[in-house]
Amino acid sequence: MIKAIKGFNDILPEQAAKWLHLEAILADVLSRYGYEHIRLPIVEQTDLFARAIGGATDIVEKEMYSFADKSDPPTPLTLRPEGTAGAVRAVIEHNMLRGDTPKLWYIGPMFRYERPQKGRYRQFHQLGVESFGSALPDADAELIAMTHLMWQQLGLKDEMRLQLNSLGEIDERHAYRDALVAYLTDKQDQLDEDSKRRLTTNPLRILDSKEASTQAILADAPKLADFLGEDSVAHFAQVKSYLEALGIDYEINPHLVRGLDYYNKTVFEWVTDKLGSQATVCAGGRYDGLIGQLKSVGASSAKSDKPVKSEPGVGFAMGLERLLLLIEAVAPFEPTAACDVFVAAHPEVYSAGIGYAQNLRYKRPDLRVKMASATSLKAQMKKADKSGAALTVIIAQQEIDDNTISIKDMRNGEQSSVAQDWLSSVDNFSAQ
Ligand code: ATP
Ligand code: MG
Repeated sequence: MIKAIKGFNDILPEQAAKWLHLEAILADVLSRYGYEHIRLPIVEQTDLFARAIGGATDIVEKEMYSFADKSDPPTPLTLRPEGTAGAVRAVIEHNMLRGDTPKLWYIGPMFRYERPQKGRYRQFHQLGVESFGSALPDADAELIAMTHLMWQQLGLKDEMRLQLNSLGEIDERHAYRDALVAYLTDKQDQLDEDSKRRLTTNPLRILDSKEASTQAILADAPKLADFLGEDSVAHFAQVKSYLEALGIDYEINPHLVRGLDYYNKTVFEWVTDKLGSQATVCAGGRYDGLIGQLKSVGASSAKSDKPVKSEPGVGFAMGLERLLLLIEAVAPFEPTAACDVFVAAHPEVYSAGIGYAQNLRYKRPDLRVKMASATSLKAQMKKADKSGAALTVIIAQQEIDDNTISIKDMRNGEQSSVAQDWLSSVDNFSAQ
């Protein structure tokens, strides 16, 4: 028996109904903020991710699903591990940034070769949002405010804590990195193995090491905040002040660095205490250099010989599996039956039954009308019992002769005979 690949999950109907419900709530909030939906490919050139995310990150170093296609020479391709790189590629390729400030969102599967566990899978799903073209701190605050409203709509407002940090500009971060490396090099014997390795590959990631011994050494390390320039400090202060004006609480986490190289200035995470070590449900930040960087390496097919001007962006992604785990734990969705009205028809008059159900669907778009195949009425009634329908319509020869239908109230089992068009009027039956 061939089974699904480890870390790749089927989402079965009961669960999938919750996904649809969640996605509808999130999409609604996004449209209320004027964000537009975009659909992007799942496969991109490997180079795009290597350049955008950074060669020394966990994702590019060890988590990507990469393969060569059958072209000659083969093109190195990768299943997308995240959405920002592809979104940036698309807005460059389609010239969407010229004089405009697109605000976009997308949803779909991402792929990372990680050790599967609760809240961590190899195929998982993100809702991603990217706001392009504004370097001003209101763009950062708007994204955070929007997620805040999403938590409120989902009943999760009290479960989420907002953590904030500023990474400053690239050169400020580099100066800090040098100072951190100088400080830690003396003490490298006391670092955990991962952090020792990162000292040469990606030193900032040492800051979010989970090892207590490493954290103890970091207590006296130089602070990133002391390396930020005036502009970065003012930008961050303005983001915080907008959040305060909006009444959104935050914590400053000076060790929040994020695992992707493209961030500058604001970075943020929404974390929960309810999901163990998979605590981050939503994460994002600003990436003012990424568009220029991808343009200058010719990642786009857009022909432009104009000088590259700074084209800022800020975005976030939320992990939908983690979000659903949290919803399940603290504010589960009300289960909804997949059907309101079940139509059971005697096999000899089954075509009248189909006709009745079809007509009902035209006349009552508010009702979900289900039928079973033309087996015995008894077998169909069993299916009606299981369907969750509030009402079953029964049609046999007698009903056709009398121009009636029989209806069975599934909550109390009472059966009665009513006019054939009884359900066509909205007043007679409400699914609620
Ligand atoms: P983590 O530190 O948990 O590995 P990350 O920093 O790698 O997360 P991002 O790349 O920022 O995560 O992705 C944004 C969000 O996507 C995460 O906060 C999380 O909710 C979700 N996510 C990331 N990787 C996975 C995964 N393998 N399985 C399920 N959800 C994931
Ligand atoms: Mg990760």
